Amino acid sequence: MTSMTNTGYARHFDETQSIEVSQACTGCGACLITCPVSCLKSSSNGIVFIGNGCTFCLDCLEVCPVGAVKLIRRVDN
Ligand code: SF4
Ligand code: SF4
Repeated sequence: MTSMTNTGYARHFDETQSIEVSQACTGCGACLITCPVSCLKSSSNGIVFIGNGCTFCLDCLEVCPVGAVKLIRRVDN
């Protein structure tokens, strides 16, 4: 597990990275329980990434049994 404690650094990564949940999600809820800052929520459309406060620890990727959670890197053009 990697955690970022420098808020400036974390803010930079908020702008360049995101978490996405694919349709492979079974709704088991493991990622919801695992996220230390409650950035993932259950909705009528499945699991959604709220983003606010995400440290990109990637624990949600590691815990998902079906690999439905992905780290998305945004590329500036
Ligand atoms: S990367 Fe970490 S903080 Fe961000 S949604 Fe996943 S478990 Fe939560
Ligand atoms: S751990 Fe994976 S399968 Fe389970 S709810 Fe989260 S995204 Fe869906």
